[in-house]
Amino acid sequence: MKFIGAHVSASGGVFNAPVNAKQIGASAFALFTKNQKQWMANPLSDEEIESFKQICSKNGYTSAQILPHDSYLINLGNPTDEGIGKSRASFLEEMKRCQALGLDKLNFHPGSHLKEISEEECIARIAESLNMILDKTQGVTAVIENTAGQGTNLGYKFEHLAAIIEKVEDKSRVGVCLDTCHSFAAGYDLRSKESCDKVFDLFDKIVGMRYLRGMHLNDAKKPLGSRVDRHESLGAGEIGWECFKYIMQDARFENIPLILETPSPELWPQEIATLKSFIQ
Ligand SMILES: [Zn+2]
Ligand SMILES: [Zn+2]
Repeated sequence: MKFIGAHVSASGGVFNAPVNAKQIGASAFALFTKNQKQWMANPLSDEEIESFKQICSKNGYTSAQILPHDSYLINLGNPTDEGIGKSRASFLEEMKRCQALGLDKLNFHPGSHLKEISEEECIARIAESLNMILDKTQGVTAVIENTAGQGTNLGYKFEHLAAIIEKVEDKSRVGVCLDTCHSFAAGYDLRSKESCDKVFDLFDKIVGMRYLRGMHLNDAKKPLGSRVDRHESLGAGEIGWECFKYIMQDARFENIPLILETPSPELWPQEIATLKSFIQ
């Protein structure tokens, strides 16, 4: 099965996310389980958790179709003691929120070295953060998203993802989310069937397809290798439709959330319908 959806709003309460997803014809969705611009949030109430679970099950969303995203403030590779302490505490809270909601994944951006430590040291800090947090939680997989490599963000090379995974003790609870826009901006060409074959074979060789737990489907505003993260609506950017057709027709992308983070929510119903029409 292909699970296709978008990163929908959870404003007013997490239980609004499945309602918003249903309205756009989605069979998957992403959400923030708290305000993504704040470090901490009030704990979820039992009522909130119950209604989220009820609305999900009423609309046919299982945890396999849901990919929560963490706050953008979190940097699990932060070079300072204060920064990393705050990030770890906040990420632990988010993992616990997912656990309480019955969700089994949390998508995050690996981290930034802020020019204060080397890439290797930053990777080691990220893995150390994950080991600490996985130890204090159960049933939730930490899903590392590849990045465009903007600024000092790590995770723009498949080798970075592999190096983090290598240092994580419980490999059953670490995974990867590939963002098509980020991959393209980082220099991985996805414009044709042949180039997609090459990129995903490379991913399999360096990281391993078994770690793929989700995809972000975005076209890219900036050219190949720009290292600039600007999403575009599907088919309207530098990548083009071929890549998304490829993903829809390839069995390696079954049973994981395939999430739009494209800039025009009013186009989501059409984008989802077009993606579905590619499935053979
Ligand atoms: Zn993304
Ligand atoms: Zn992005």
